[in-house]
Amino acid sequence: MSAEVTPAQRIAILGSTGSIGTSTLDVVARHPGRFEIAGLSAYQRVDLLAEQCARFRPRVAVVPTEERARDLRGRLAQAGVATEVRAGAAALSELAAADDVDAVMAAIVGAAGLAPCMAAASAGKRLLLANKEALVVGGALFMRAVEQGGALLLPIDSEHSAIFQCLPEDRDTWSRRIDHIVLTASGGPFRTRDPATFVDVTPEQAVAHPNWVMGRKISVDSATMMNKALEVIEARWLFGLEPDRIRVVIHPQSIVHSMVVCRDASVLAQLGTPDMRVPIAYGLAYPERVESGASRLDFEQLASLSFEPVDLRRFPGLQLAWDTLRAPVGTTAVLNAANEEAVAAFLDRRIGFAAIHEVNARTVDEMLGRLGDVATLDELIDLDRRARDVARRVAEGLAR
Ligand code: NAD
Ligand code: MG
Repeated sequence: MSAEVTPAQRIAILGSTGSIGTSTLDVVARHPGRFEIAGLSAYQRVDLLAEQCARFRPRVAVVPTEERARDLRGRLAQAGVATEVRAGAAALSELAAADDVDAVMAAIVGAAGLAPCMAAASAGKRLLLANKEALVVGGALFMRAVEQGGALLLPIDSEHSAIFQCLPEDRDTWSRRIDHIVLTASGGPFRTRDPATFVDVTPEQAVAHPNWVMGRKISVDSATMMNKALEVIEARWLFGLEPDRIRVVIHPQSIVHSMVVCRDASVLAQLGTPDMRVPIAYGLAYPERVESGASRLDFEQLASLSFEPVDLRRFPGLQLAWDTLRAPVGTTAVLNAANEEAVAAFLDRRIGFAAIHEVNARTVDEMLGRLGDVATLDELIDLDRRARDVARRVAEGLAR
């Protein structure tokens, strides 16, 4: 009699050198035999990517340019690693749809992750989505690709993982059972800072998040609360809920990761220490549960869990989530493009912190009425490009 051997789940990590990417490898490494790395990709950190290839031995590694591919090939040859190195955006989408890949961890930051996410969705992969911007830009088109491709879309964003964990498996019942959902937000580093001093905020202050260690872009988004705006839009698509059934509350401790308020007024919540390895492990093993490496909550040490309303005068960007969801299709993609450009300009010290919201609001206003057709991926990518042109011009006008 031979024992049943479950084959390892073969995983491609898009953006393996980032915060989510490295946390994913940390969880994978805890379960040899259960998970296997089929592919990795990185944008800049070729040195770290080479180390990851040496350790996890993927079939293929993808970098953006031929120059970086040569660099990586040199490093791998020296270390005696047989990983094939490929360059360019097409190689990224090919990896996401490859036959020897069961699951794709989408951990690229920004709209740059949209095309490979769509490729994974159309190829019917198990798609672990950290890359919220891809869904904010892709919207209904993204969800249609998931459905038509027969993909399994598993949210990695901690709030959306929390809600997903509170819901029954039969997604056809969600809209009926849910009254509304409540996304929790820490309030970021400036929850109590005097808004009159926001003009003086430096990039270093903005990326210093009180509870989470994350990439620079999402850290700035947390400081403006644009991260929560993107998450409201993300939730709209993931859970098929109308915008007015998605609410936000400030919860400074980041212990309650989000809540579902049911038809009968019962509230379901998911709790845990703020460690992204929890939602990552959940996505990797779903519907099983495996060790994540995160520490357990110690209820005897938990001083308090508090909640407070969001002050929209302090965080005006949050309102743009509902405004753009109610505007014509494509407006959320414009908001995302504007925000990516505004955050880049702020991190480069070209504009001030408070100007991020100005760029976003003005770009959305200016682009309304000239969104064009947004029925295909190419049309969305074109809209993203046009919105960035407008946002860069607006940012130049606000330069200090
Ligand atoms: P990060 O900046 O730490 O890492 C980004 C990764 O994407 C890196 O591997 C980088 O090489 C790659 N990358 C960057 N630009 C690219 C491009 N143009 N083309 C291809 N690859 C590119 O970011 P992160 O904090 O890991 O976040 C990744 C995504 O996950 C974001 O969408 C973020 O909103 C989401 N997310 C992150 C966290 C977190 O705790 N870090 C939590 C929830 C959601
Ligand atoms: Mg989140």
